[in-house]
Amino acid sequence: MGKYTLPKLPYAYDALEPHIDARTMEIHHTKHHQAYTDKLNAALEKCSPEIQNKDILDILSDLSQVPDDVRGAINFNGGGFDNHRLFWNNMKANGGGEPGGAVADAINTSFGSFADFKEKFSSTTAVFQGSGWGWLVYNSSSGKVEYKSMPNQTSPRTEGLIPLLGCDVWEHAYYLKYQNKRPDYITAWWHIVNWDEVDSRLSKAK
Ligand code: MN
Repeated sequence: MGKYTLPKLPYAYDALEPHIDARTMEIHHTKHHQAYTDKLNAALEKCSPEIQNKDILDILSDLSQVPDDVRGAINFNGGGFDNHRLFWNNMKANGGGEPGGAVADAINTSFGSFADFKEKFSSTTAVFQGSGWGWLVYNSSSGKVEYKSMPNQTSPRTEGLIPLLGCDVWEHAYYLKYQNKRPDYITAWWHIVNWDEVDSRLSKAK
């Protein structure tokens, strides 16, 4: 038994239908997220007890502290483990719409308007080459939110940024229903965004 276990989904596999189909959710959770979890545990077993006792978020924020021969594996699988547990929680049935309160204020300050933010997030994430994620992040240096694309499973935390909302655009996230049409998947995904979760993460980040 490794240090980390696959977290339960906060809803049923079919809860996000029709935007994300149940079969995609089940494979994504039980196969892909499970594999990142297992491989993170395997990589941590090659580290010192001092590293093993640290939280994965502290490890991701400074990968120079892990041995050279497992750094790539921890970047990939530790990022994959954390990115997906964020991802499940930043979606919900009957989500979407526009955020209010502090999230709306932060988005308006950084992007001008919610519409401008949504357009930048969608268009940039849609054309990102290869596998990766589009993120709304909090930059504690500037005190502002930003858009950030990250390749593969690399966490925004590796660049000192705090992830608030992530859209997984690996093909495994959408291929069964949307095939090559990543923009259609992103358009549908906005309908299930859980803005309450983003609000909660932003207040913790500050
Ligand atoms: Mn994924």
